[in-house]
This record gives sequence, C-alpha cells and structure tokens, in this order.
Amino acid sequence: MDCLNCGKRVEHSLQKHYHYRESGLDNLYLENMAIVHKCVCGQQFTEIPKMERLHDAIAYDLLNKKALWSGREFRFLRKWVGLTVEELGSALGQVSRDTVSRWERGTDRINTRHAPSNASPGVTAERRCD
Ligand SMILES: [Zn+2]
Repeated sequence: MDCLNCGKRVEHSLQKHYHYRESGLDNLYLENMAIVHKCVCGQQFTEIPKMERLHDAIAYDLLNKKALWSGREFRFLRKWVGLTVEELGSALGQVSRDTVSRWERGTDRINTRHAPSNASPGVTAERRCD
C-alpha cells in the first residue's frame, strides 16, 4: 500500500491493544485486531478488518446485556440499525429528537416507557460464526 500523502510505501503492524474510541463506546479495546499503517512522512491511520462483523458482535452483546444501556451504547445500537435520531424517536412513538439526543449524551435518563427492549422494532441480532 502506498501513502496517499507522499506516495511512498506504507509500513503496517498489528496493534496488540487498541482503544477503539471510534466506536463511540467508552471501554472497548481490541486485542490483536487493529492494523496501524504508518508512513515515513508522518501519515498514519488505523484499519479495523471485518469492522461490520465486529459491530454485529458488539451489538449482539449489548442486546443481551442484563443492565440498562448507557447513552453511548444506546447511540451505538441506533447507528448499528441505521436509524437517524428522528427515525428512532418516531419508531418509539413520537419521542422528540432532543429527547433522544439527551438520552444518547447521558444528560437525561431513558424513559422506561419508551426504553427499547430486546424486541425493539427492527432490531434483531444473530451470532455469526466464521
Ligand atoms: Zn507518506
């Protein structure tokens, strides 16, 4: 692979322990999954192979979580099913965009009257095996 910045060959290495902040979740670490691509010019980016399957596995675990979801977990699941804040609010029965945003930011508790269960509309998960 060549650098998009300078055109030189990019070195890559497996990251043993990677804090996957891009997921939007606080405490998600990937062990021996992330590949760091570095160029001598200073360009660097991280690749997460099979990211879709990883996100499916994360969602599966969240959907089976026994405790309430955090706002960040709630946001992860909303994005995983591909809904906008407005679409989710509508699916939950006229919950406003601001309310959903407050739930996701954790500034407001999720109203249990609207709280999604494992049987939320459009939310299903299957454990995929390779
Ligand atoms: Zn470069």
